[in-house]
Amino acid sequence: MNRLESNCEAARGQLQGNRSTDSMTTRNFFWEETMASTVGFVGLGNMGGPMAINLVKAGHRVLGFDLSEAAMAAHAEAGGEKAVSIGELAAAADVIVTMLPAGKHVRQIYQGEGGILETARPGTLLIDSSTIDVESARVVSKAAEESDMPMVDAPVSGGVAGAAAGTLTFMVGGADSAFEAARPFLEVMGKTIVHAGGAGTGQAAKICNNMLLGISMIGVCEAFVLAEKLGLDAQKLFDISSTASGQCWSLTSYCPVPGPVPSSPANRDYQPGFAAAMMLKDLKLAQEAAGSSGAATPLGAEAASLYALFCNSGGESQDFSGIVKFLRGET
Ligand code: NAD
Repeated sequence: MNRLESNCEAARGQLQGNRSTDSMTTRNFFWEETMASTVGFVGLGNMGGPMAINLVKAGHRVLGFDLSEAAMAAHAEAGGEKAVSIGELAAAADVIVTMLPAGKHVRQIYQGEGGILETARPGTLLIDSSTIDVESARVVSKAAEESDMPMVDAPVSGGVAGAAAGTLTFMVGGADSAFEAARPFLEVMGKTIVHAGGAGTGQAAKICNNMLLGISMIGVCEAFVLAEKLGLDAQKLFDISSTASGQCWSLTSYCPVPGPVPSSPANRDYQPGFAAAMMLKDLKLAQEAAGSSGAATPLGAEAASLYALFCNSGGESQDFSGIVKFLRGET
């Protein structure tokens, strides 16, 4: 049994002994009393910053590293520690979480010279929560396995608000044992933790879901634009379609026109929410994966083109539901 497994085994026993308490109490006890770990956190940006702070709040020692001085300062101010290099962080950590912009950053941080796989101890648990291409996730995971480090790809949904509140959804790819080892850390940062399957399936789940979301949002927007042209009131269309066969999350929870769903970004001038630029990133990743796997995704391709046009015409930092304005010819 390696270092991490024996920690988890002890903690699991402790957790089982405390099942009768409510889940939050159990979780706090779990960490504060039995399993405070040294966590290395690379990428302290909009998402990674608050995620790292939630690990600090749960009682872990969190060594952070980011190229941005401001991000490092915010981490230290909130109770984290600054690492001077990836090497220093990796050598000290029991667990390493990465939250980086794209696959090339993840490959470099893990596999580059002086990177995590070169400097961390065998047995270190690796969690990559960046949204990246499936191919990079699988390549890095295989290299980690060869270095005797269990790894999961664990991209998230829930945005910056979910990162701050600790309510993210994690879609996790990796071996059962790596998933079980990662789960307690993910539970500190998220509310819903789903094991999607082997390496890369977390990323696959994320891009399949977001491709579906992008397509459905465009469909809902087109229906409202057509209704406007035909003199059908938006609220009436909502009332009918939300209880009929056209109903979907983009309509009922995130309605792209003001009024029917008061919490949707349409009611605050399309402030994100989930920015159109992030949607475009995920749609491009889906197209990349469709190309390499030979899947036919014509609507996914169309959605990627439309979001590229929307972003290029000034919509990139608006919520992705703002594409309704683009379809009306407003931006
Ligand atoms: P961000 O740009 O705010 O943060 C990325 C951080 O990584 C930056 O602080 C940057 O300085 C740091 N970084 C880049 N290269 C580095 C390196 N070599 N070494 C150390 N640090 C480095 O991005 P974000 O919004 O936090 O997103 C992070 C990931 O989460 C992305 O993959 C994104 O697609 C995904 N994501 C974001 C959201 C969202 O709403 N922002 C939602 C879901 C998923």
